[in-house]
Amino acid sequence: MKTKLKPLKTQNVKILSPGNGSGIDGSLKFNEGWEYAPALESTGHVSIKDTYGLFIGGKFVKPLSGKYFDTINPANEQRIARIAKASSADVDKAVKAARNAYVKVWSKMPDNERGKYIYRIARMIQERAREFAVIESMDGGKTIRESRDVDVPLAAAHFFYYAGWADKLKYAFPGRKPHSLGVAGQIVPWNFPLLMAAWKIAPALATGNTVVIKPAETTSLTCLKLAELIQESGLPDGVVNVVTGAGATGAAIVNHPDVNKIAFTGSTEVGKIIQNAIAGSDKKVTLELGGKAANIIMDDAPLDQAVEGIINGIYFNQGHVCCAGSRLFIQEDVANTVIRKLKDRMQSLIVGDPLDKNTDIGAINSKEQLNTINNYIKIGVEEGASFYQSSCKLPDKGYWCRPTLFLNVSQSHRIANEEIFGPVLAVQTFRTVEEVIEKANNTPYGLSAGIWTDKGAKIFHITGKLRAGVIWANTYNKFDPSSPFGGYKESGFGREGGLHGLAAYLSLAG
Ligand code: NDP
Repeated sequence: MKTKLKPLKTQNVKILSPGNGSGIDGSLKFNEGWEYAPALESTGHVSIKDTYGLFIGGKFVKPLSGKYFDTINPANEQRIARIAKASSADVDKAVKAARNAYVKVWSKMPDNERGKYIYRIARMIQERAREFAVIESMDGGKTIRESRDVDVPLAAAHFFYYAGWADKLKYAFPGRKPHSLGVAGQIVPWNFPLLMAAWKIAPALATGNTVVIKPAETTSLTCLKLAELIQESGLPDGVVNVVTGAGATGAAIVNHPDVNKIAFTGSTEVGKIIQNAIAGSDKKVTLELGGKAANIIMDDAPLDQAVEGIINGIYFNQGHVCCAGSRLFIQEDVANTVIRKLKDRMQSLIVGDPLDKNTDIGAINSKEQLNTINNYIKIGVEEGASFYQSSCKLPDKGYWCRPTLFLNVSQSHRIANEEIFGPVLAVQTFRTVEEVIEKANNTPYGLSAGIWTDKGAKIFHITGKLRAGVIWANTYNKFDPSSPFGGYKESGFGREGGLHGLAAYLSLAG
């Protein structure tokens, strides 16, 4: 059935919203309907300083290095603030502050008192949710819809969840004697800056450890805002320290002799460097690295929902997602239908201003990452895969990439094997369950996967054979603080979230 929508008088109408998929299968064309009027989130309520120091021992201090770098908005290439660049002397100062706080205050505090501070941080994040969401979108390029509805609420949820465990550790590990490790060195990437900081800080505090954390160079602002909030919360000085800077700052944390645990999320390449660096030491480590997840569509799947799952799987957060469903496997007899629906849906995606509530795909996080993505697109074309991109307009300034897919991809193509970390999907087909299991597992990574089918038995059969840490069935990219997250093979080891996430910050004697 053809649907014809009347334009609102006040709107400049062009693109037809696809809704939940009904009416897509057929002659309805996107780009011929409605265009949304801009719905910009206000930035008036946001306070960002011109210059940020390091957060050490409960105070913002100038870096001993005397050096600073700019953080820019990837959607307009304008400078937002100046950020301190921590040297190894600054990191040493932060580790000393963390050790001091651990020995004198945090490790001696009753568990339930520790829990109260963590609850307070959770509540304060909720109170300032809008400010965090806007800053996250400005600094990192992600859409306000995602930072508002995913990143910030999940960050608060992590603090709430782990606050609840602080005084129940002996019940979490019956018969064991859980004991904190000491100082945790934590290094987070640029794709979920606040959320990854929450994933790291909340379990560390709940288990009685103190923290030195480094955000990624391109996205330091929400971690620094979190430091301001922590200062206001009255958390004892030195329990959480934030050192900003580039890879060298991260390396100084990893190599510091008085750090007891390293928690890292980022590339497999840096994960390997970290593993080498700490080999032979007694540092505990968790590595959450890259991924190249298979998203599998069986011929009995609810296809319209599956198409939404494919879109969410690869285009969520511009594809800057370690667990992104970047390899799509469609069962051969529904492949043409799925690909047609997928292309239609891609046409409806709005790429543009991250602060516009209509935007589906925001800015690519940095110029370097855009170059990486464009390079992979070039490689895909040269390898002989069929290239398709939506035809949406892109803003003049900033870093942008249209939703992209490649058809006729073979297992040996680099675009099917390497993590692109952008909105680029590699599509393959299969005939049998055995074939898709083999293809899905034929990757150096093992972080996540998705399966779409009408049959519960098929879900259990296939998920049991996929070698991936997290597998979603008839959904994708769903996260919950109580659910452990982590990978196999080159996707790293150790789990974050849930009880497993607590264990990573404890020694469990006896
Ligand atoms: P990195 O692994 O370099 O960055 C992750 C974090 O590690 C950042 O805070 C970074 O600092 C820091 N870091 C860099 N070098 C070192 C080091 N030698 N020792 C300790 N810490 C270090 O990722 P990139 O930003 O370079 O992204 C490159 C690729 O990695 C992406 O294209 C993507 O494929 C993948 N990636 C995967 C992520 C995941 O969640 N699995 C997350 C991010 C990237 P800084 O940013 O300040 O340099």
